[in-house]
Amino acid sequence: MSESSARVLQGLHAVVTGGGRGLGAVIAAALADLGADLTLMGRTAGTLGAHAESLNRSSGVRVQAIVCDVTRADDVKRAFAEAAAALGPVRILINNAGQAEAARFTDISLDSWQRMLDVNLTGTFLCTQQVLGGMLAAGSGRIVNIASVAGLEGAAQIAAYCAAKHGVVGLTRALAAETVRQGITVNAVCPGYTDGTDMFRAAIASVMRSTGQPEDRAREILAKRSPRGTLITPREVVDAVVWLCSPGASAITGQAIAVAAGEVMP
Ligand code: NDP
Repeated sequence: MSESSARVLQGLHAVVTGGGRGLGAVIAAALADLGADLTLMGRTAGTLGAHAESLNRSSGVRVQAIVCDVTRADDVKRAFAEAAAALGPVRILINNAGQAEAARFTDISLDSWQRMLDVNLTGTFLCTQQVLGGMLAAGSGRIVNIASVAGLEGAAQIAAYCAAKHGVVGLTRALAAETVRQGITVNAVCPGYTDGTDMFRAAIASVMRSTGQPEDRAREILAKRSPRGTLITPREVVDAVVWLCSPGASAITGQAIAVAAGEVMP
């Protein structure tokens, strides 16, 4: 990569929700490598602060950690105001914060249903509302929503998560239609099972419980759900996200891109 293409996001302020760990942490590191100044948001100050400090040291960009629960409207409003006051208007928003709960449909409690909608869908709505006005005024902005293959197809025992992620894909398409003439792109990235995160470890534990199989066998069972026969890597997801934020993706909007090794075919 040439020096000029290496810093294509220089000076742009990017917010990554859930940026302290898992996929969000890797996305944040990749955006920092491209020169973006960063705000990491999440509920856990320690994790966020440690990652922000490490990115500050390694990348030379400005990185701040702001504690925020994306399900709470007041918290989101305060966090985005603090973020913009310190690093300027937000030009890139990665709605990555999410949670997954699995249960047979008849066992889903109203609380669990509501939690899935709140964090995965309403969180995306609330964070996007905080940045869209500034992006419209500037005539430029990139929004990437981390959905899931569960946003594109049904799967057993995750109805609430699936409904929320389908909602994220719908929101993505609708907002893209509304902003297409205003220099803003809005896209969803839809990963299959992605190795190495706490959410993935929880999925493995759930397969171990339901099948009585050891960890390596449970990993194999999840890997085999992909036609490629292997798990998705965080890098594969992050490369798609970074591309959508890059100048070369300016004509890509309203898309839900499966990073799933053939699991979802158009
Ligand atoms: P992790 O569980 O590893 O990380 C989730 C992140 O979201 C954490 O940083 C967490 O931070 C943050 N978060 C959770 N709830 C809230 C909240 N209420 N407010 C603010 N932040 C919150 O998950 P992954 O990294 O695996 O997942 C990231 C995204 O990718 C999610 O949207 C997930 O649905 C999606 N995805 C993941 C797949 C996988 O197999 N790993 C597959 C498909 C999609 P904290 O706890 O500090 O708040």
